[in-house]
Amino acid sequence: MQLSKNIKKPIIACRILNTFFLDSLFPITCLVCHKKNTWLCQECMEKFPLLSFQLCPYCEKEITQNGTICKKCQRNQFEKKSPLQLNALICATDYQKISKLVHLFKYNFVIDLGTPLGKIIAKALQKNEAPLPDFIIPVPIHRRKLKWRGFNQAEILANSISQNLTPGLHLPVRTDLIFRQKKTRAQMKIKDYHERLSNLHNAFATFPQAEKAVSGKKILLVDDIATTGATLFECAKILKATGAKEVTGAIIARQKI
Ligand SMILES: [Zn+2]
Ligand SMILES: [Zn+2]
Repeated sequence: MQLSKNIKKPIIACRILNTFFLDSLFPITCLVCHKKNTWLCQECMEKFPLLSFQLCPYCEKEITQNGTICKKCQRNQFEKKSPLQLNALICATDYQKISKLVHLFKYNFVIDLGTPLGKIIAKALQKNEAPLPDFIIPVPIHRRKLKWRGFNQAEILANSISQNLTPGLHLPVRTDLIFRQKKTRAQMKIKDYHERLSNLHNAFATFPQAEKAVSGKKILLVDDIATTGATLFECAKILKATGAKEVTGAIIARQKI
């Protein structure tokens, strides 16, 4: 009894010291205004600068109303007979302004940032009068990656959007309809546009219950960051093939390759 007490004491002391040193070395402060004990305070989240315009998700050149497909891309798809599956994409803010927060959230596992980041996306969706979806689908990650990381960052964002897009009405977040069947190379590591597209070819698949749930529905597809948009396009493709009526994407920011 005496022995275990003696062992426990130094362990507790070590933990306290460890926390003390970690907090002094890396104190948690708002990354915008440096207020203590929060990564992004309420005030800075509320006034985070949203994009003043949205671009066509495919060519990224034309400014379009609420991130819909531009006329030129619509014409091209008609001529090539290859329908563009994502109806619109709402991008919340400029990548440079938010990259530090996204990096902490995604790679340093600061899960608490998911709620304010999701709120920023929800505000962008409100600003752009995005159609109210029947439900939200976060872009899935492969089960092995989920096991390694412990969370799907897109799902955390989707839950926050669900709570904040239409207060009082919690939109369902469906993680039981599509899944990532292929463990792809990280898109960030691929520089070539066409290679990025082929990397994701058939990366996603549907669960058996998807057809009934998705058919005729308006879906909000959520991810953290997009570069070429290939991941969102591939998810939208499978959702449309399963019968979805409309698929709108929502992301924090778009990063240049
Ligand atoms: Zn702040
Ligand atoms: Zn376009």
